[in-house]
Amino acid sequence: MQRQRIAICGAGTAGLASAVILARQGHDITLFEQSPAMENVGAGILLQPSGMAVFRHMGVLDIAQDLGAHVSALRGRTARGTLVVNSAYHEACPQQHGLGLHRATLCHVLMQALNGMNVRWQMGATVDSITDHDDGAELHWQDAHGSHRFAADLVLVANGARSHLRPKEWVSLDKAYPWGAVWAILPQCEELEPKILHQFFHGASRMMGILPTGAVPDAPQQQLTSLFWSLPADALEHWGEAEVAAWKNEVQQRWPEAGTWINRVVSSPSQFLPARYRDVVMRRFGGGRIGVMGDAAHAMSPQLGQGVNMALLDAWALGQAMQNSTDFPALWAHYHQLRLPSVRFYQFMSRGLTPFYQSHSKTLGLARDLAFPWMYLLPWLRREMAKTVSGVKAGPFRELDLDAIAAPDSAALKPAEAAS
Ligand SMILES: Cc1cc2nc3c(=O)[nH]c(=O)nc-3n(C[C@H](O)[C@H](O)[C@H](O)COP(=O)(O)OP(=O)(O)OC[C@H]3O[C@@H](n4cnc5c(N)ncnc54)[C@H](O)[C@@H]3O)c2cc1C
Repeated sequence: MQRQRIAICGAGTAGLASAVILARQGHDITLFEQSPAMENVGAGILLQPSGMAVFRHMGVLDIAQDLGAHVSALRGRTARGTLVVNSAYHEACPQQHGLGLHRATLCHVLMQALNGMNVRWQMGATVDSITDHDDGAELHWQDAHGSHRFAADLVLVANGARSHLRPKEWVSLDKAYPWGAVWAILPQCEELEPKILHQFFHGASRMMGILPTGAVPDAPQQQLTSLFWSLPADALEHWGEAEVAAWKNEVQQRWPEAGTWINRVVSSPSQFLPARYRDVVMRRFGGGRIGVMGDAAHAMSPQLGQGVNMALLDAWALGQAMQNSTDFPALWAHYHQLRLPSVRFYQFMSRGLTPFYQSHSKTLGLARDLAFPWMYLLPWLRREMAKTVSGVKAGPFRELDLDAIAAPDSAALKPAEAAS
């Protein structure tokens, strides 16, 4: 596609990754971000093999690996020690693993890739609305100096789960999850086996995650660990001294190894931040001169740890579609072909599995503890679970080709050709 003037609303994972990929193709990019400066606040995330393939495609995987923590498997156990989650990455993709990352590192990696590129930044700029025309789109935004308009050939909506910019007529579901989590980033956990995302369950109403998170660019020697504790959404704002003391007691009794670490590193509720989730389902992700990506397009519970990876895959898919299409209808057809099957699969799985881990149901917790260990005894199911976690599924019987995703863009527009 000829050089396009592209406005990206939101400089999170989806927005930054799209800026990198589309600027490399020679397009003219302006990023609008409501925060006055790039914020590095956010829970640790697990980059899956699918997200790592996009990092390889962008040429930034090495920087990420220098700071991130190698994660080889996910293990979830009950207080009795029953393993109800037991997925090793190598079962899905030989040689593959996950990468635990701090949000500051994720942002650093994407900003490094943008270094030296001709991308304009509008920080402290809140986009209020978008108008789609036949031959372009207009952005209405405001900053400390007042209200402004920006004319673009294409506008990408990448402003997260609570987006009010996604076209309402494309949305078929947009609702808050009844559960969320409190999370903290803490000094490294040495009490539990390294290189594992550890999860701990008691019924469906108690869940804790402990994720190796690697280091941040400012302190590369200090290894960190993220801690997640699941809570009903209405309990998130009541996480105070008494709740933390009761929780520490509970963890010490049920999972003493984790309790030893927590007693060593947790002293105050102020170390935690709340996270709320949304479930957003859209009939389509693009049309006319507007595209929607990342959580704005398909927010889901982080139970399967796919959000950042899906945002990266969106950016990759958009790059492929821009490169291979001559007009906008063809662009959206290609984009949907690349993204819809995978998004549908993960939204279905996430919605089906989350109540087994985050609900008040006694039956679902019991069913999980009885059935899931048996599932892992069946080699085919164990492999399918590992593939699901790895982010490579594109339907019950289809998979993404990670090597094809990781391949550099030999056919990408060179900036000189693009400008003509
Ligand atoms: C507790 C928790 C744990 C998670 N763990 C994982 C994990 O292990 N693995 C994983 O893959 N995913 C995980 N996720 C999900 C992941 O964080 C999200 O899916 C991902 O960050 C989505 O990226 P995004 O770019 O779409 O949106 P965001 O990261 O939300 O970025 C949106 C950006 O848009 C800006 N913005 C908003 N409105 C406007 C506006 N009107 N104008 C201009 N700018 C605007 C915001 O300031 C922000 O910078 C987790 C989420 C939570 C809450």
